[in-house]
Parts: sequence; structure tokens; C-alpha cells
Amino acid sequence: MQERWDAIVVGAGVFGAWTAWHLQQRGQRVLLLDAYGPAHTLASSAAGSRMTRSIYGPDAIYTRMALDSLSQWRRLSERAGPPILRQLGVLMFFQQREQYVDDTLAVHAKLELPTQVLEPAELVQRWPQVRWDDVALGLFEPQFGALIARRAVQMLVREFEEAGGATSTVSVMPPEGTEHLAGLRGSGGASFMADRYVFACGAWLPKLFPDVLGGRIFPTRQEVFLFALPPGDDRYKAPNLPGWADFNRGDIYYGFPDLEGRGFKIAHDQHGPPIDPDIGDRIASAEGVADVRAYLARRFPALADRPLVESRVCQYENSANGDFLIDRHPSLRNVWLVGAGSGHGFKHGPEVGRMAADLVLSDADAREPRFSLGTKARVQKRSVH
Ligand SMILES: Cc1cc2nc3c(=O)[nH]c(=O)nc-3n(C[C@H](O)[C@H](O)[C@H](O)COP(=O)(O)OP(=O)(O)OC[C@H]3O[C@@H](n4cnc5c(N)ncnc54)[C@H](O)[C@@H]3O)c2cc1C
Repeated sequence: MQERWDAIVVGAGVFGAWTAWHLQQRGQRVLLLDAYGPAHTLASSAAGSRMTRSIYGPDAIYTRMALDSLSQWRRLSERAGPPILRQLGVLMFFQQREQYVDDTLAVHAKLELPTQVLEPAELVQRWPQVRWDDVALGLFEPQFGALIARRAVQMLVREFEEAGGATSTVSVMPPEGTEHLAGLRGSGGASFMADRYVFACGAWLPKLFPDVLGGRIFPTRQEVFLFALPPGDDRYKAPNLPGWADFNRGDIYYGFPDLEGRGFKIAHDQHGPPIDPDIGDRIASAEGVADVRAYLARRFPALADRPLVESRVCQYENSANGDFLIDRHPSLRNVWLVGAGSGHGFKHGPEVGRMAADLVLSDADAREPRFSLGTKARVQKRSVH
């Protein structure tokens, strides 16, 4: 007789791994499937570092989720060998006092967060290695920082396995059925059965559910760069700089100091062209390199001519406005869809997993309207940053 699971989670990125973990914590027998393995090199969750912050302008929902997730990341990090949470602090800075600043401060005041407003003189004094001439102010969150992303997800999956959870490398076929999903078919003729199914398939979700999610999740190609530091100079190494994001009037650049000897990280947050996550080209473009070098020359001049030591092409899996998707499938009543991390999802993995497990175990549709399928528009208009 074929084994029957309480729940199958398809996708072992940060969302699927935390969903499987939370389901297991609630006594479920869970099978976690991934086409390539946890946080593999094509997945959005496969990164040396991902930023965690609770600065979110007016979007208090993400501030709260980032905070609630941070405590779960901290606990995971305490169980890890080398830490997976590096509390470097995060600094977001602005050329003018944007509405986003006042909205953030209002949310943070309500939650009594220790966020600091830094004037230009203080920025110069604390981090003289950065050129601040055009900056009006910074918001500094001392309790946040970097998540060592790939290692974090892989460690979580190991914990899940050690606690009796099962995993397998299988590419799952698009599910079939009308009201109820009876089982899954996978690569190599494999088949799997469970009472409930969660699909946390990142940029692959529209391929698995073209009718429901085609045109509602937009995978875009994103380039990330790491530059060598100047010799004999550790000013761009952790902990001598925090994680940073330049709001740049809404056209954000962000990065990290050298964390594990891999170099200074920088990326431009604007959406790139569409990408197919299985076959899309993963070589960074000359334009992308020129763009970040021009930015470095402006803000971190000592790094502008340093060798590019690593580049990565990853994908965002964007919803129209940047809100996540955590909802039940509209017709398959034992299937839930979890995704649309939209370039800011990693930090929220623990809370997304907890919320998804809640919905699954209560057989419910989305409780949070912003995470419902119904609110996922087909025209892109990003508003969450
Ligand atoms: C360049 C870049 C920078 C980012 N920076 C940040 C940041 O600083 N802070 C932050 O919070 N977030 C950041 N993000 C966003 C964050 O990384 C993503 O939102 C998050 O990793 C999405 O996780 P996921 O689990 O939904 O998807 P993924 O990690 O892509 O996982 C989906 C998994 O589903 C599997 N899968 C798909 N189809 C199938 C199938 N048919 N069968 C079996 N398995 C399947 C895939 O193999 C994959 O492993 C960034 C993203 C990128 C690309």
C-alpha cells in the first residue's frame, strides 16, 4: 500500500521549509518535496545573505511579521553551528525626508521599536568610509542584519528530517483534479498521497498553476554582485558597516559589508526582465556591472574599481504590488498556495510558514486579505518596499 502523509509540501525554499517545519511542530507527518533540493542554486532562497529589517513604510503588517520572524530566526541561529543570523544592524538612508520615513516611524513608535533616526553628521561620524553628501537622514535598526540564507534553509530542513520529516528530490507535475487533489505525480514515475498539499514553489508557481497564477506572479531576473575589498582595509567588512539600503527616491540599491570573506555585496532592487527559473541565463550583464560600479563610485568610492569577484542571477517572484500569497486554491479544497515573496520574502519565512500551517490545519481560506489570491492583480504596480 502506498504511504499516505498528513501533508505534502512541494518546494523546499524558505517558505516551504518553514511551512513543513511548522506543520511538523503541530504533530503532522509531513513529506517535503523539491525538484532540486533545499535552497538549491536556482531557488530564490539560495543566497549567501538576505537582509532582515522591519522598516516597511506604512506596511505595518510586514514590520510585525519581520519582528515575529526575527525571534524564530534567532532561535534557529542559536541552534546552528556558525550563526545564520548576523546582527549587524540595518541602515536605510534617504536623500529627502520621504513619506516612507514618517510612515515607518509612526509604525515603529506604536510598536516601541528602538529604531534610530541618524542625522548626516552622525552618519559621517559613524561610517566615514561612505560618501554621505546628498543624504538627508538614515533610519538605523540595531537588532536586524543579515541572514545566511542557504545555510539557514538547509539547516532547517535537516532539523525537520532529524525530527522524523521525510524529504525527496522529485519534480512534481502540475496537479490535476476539480475539487479535491487525490495525489501527486512526480519525475521518474513517482506518486505521492496526502490529506493536504501545500505548493510553495517560488517562481515556478505559474508553471504549476497556469490557469490560477499565470499573469499573477511575475518572475523577474535580478543580478547581485560581490566586489573584493581594498588591500589592508577592513572598513567594508562586518561589523564595521551595517547592512544598508539607499532608498534613492524609490529606486533602491542595497547590500552588505563583507560577511564571510566573499566580498562587498551590492544589488539594484529595480525589477529586471522576465525569466524562466529553469532555463533562464544566469550570467550577469555588462550593463548590470556598469550600473553598480557607477553607484559604488558615488557612494563607496574606494570600492568602485575593485575586482568583481562574484555575480549571481536570481529571480524575484513578484505579485502585482509586492504582497505575498498565502491562500487556498480556488477549486482544489485540500491545496494551499504559498509564494510571491516579491524580492522581500526571505526574512518573513518563519511567519509565512506559521500562517500557512494555520490555514492548512484549519482548512481555511486566507485570513489576511492582502495575502489572498483574490487581491492578486494582473497588472504590476509595486507598492511594497
Ligand atoms: C537577488 C535577490 C535578493 C533578495 N533579497 C532579499 C532580502 O534581502 N531580504 C529578503 O527578505 N528577501 C530577499 N529576497 C526575496 C527572497 O529571497 C524570496 O522571497 C524567497 O527566497 C522566496 O522563497 P520561496 O520559498 O517562495 O521560493 P524558492 O526559494 O525559489 O523555492 C521554491 C522551491 O520550489 C521548488 N519547486 C518548484 N517547482 C517544483 C516542482 N514542480 N516540483 C518540486 N519542487 C518544485 C523549487 O525547486 C524551489 O526550491 C531576494 C531575492 C532575490 C532573488
